[in-house]
Amino acid sequence: MWLYHRNVAGNTFNEHLRIGEFIDHKSFPRERRELIIENVCAIDFIKEDGVFEVHEIKKGKGENKAQEMQVLYYMYVMQKVLGGEVKGFIHYPQVRKVKEVHPDYEKIETSIGRIRSIIQGECPKPVRIPICRGCSYAEVCWS
Ligand code: SF4
Repeated sequence: MWLYHRNVAGNTFNEHLRIGEFIDHKSFPRERRELIIENVCAIDFIKEDGVFEVHEIKKGKGENKAQEMQVLYYMYVMQKVLGGEVKGFIHYPQVRKVKEVHPDYEKIETSIGRIRSIIQGECPKPVRIPICRGCSYAEVCWS
């Protein structure tokens, strides 16, 4: 996050990113109504049927906290823009699973505060954790 905020790109040929992009582009071709708000959010697709819905398509089997926080953030942004109820869903096409994300805007405001303090601080020292193996910034942190 600290690097990304300073326009330091990770490895764009990262295998996990490319598989994710492939799944994203091949899934839900009919529903596709992408919504991009420059420098704020890029939602895979939206639906409006009385209630505004945010939908994200992800690789993997689910149970990923970062993905939930991403969708929660999109819901928070759209709630601020539109007002009213906003629902959020994560689709995992590989396992045909859909997970609903419950709105917890206090949680996202706390995270935004933490993010602000991280990006305003010094570059955090890398700490080796299991996801480092698939991270697009691995070369920046560990070479
Ligand atoms: S390689 Fe590890 S420490 Fe570096 S950004 Fe990725 S997850 Fe964080």
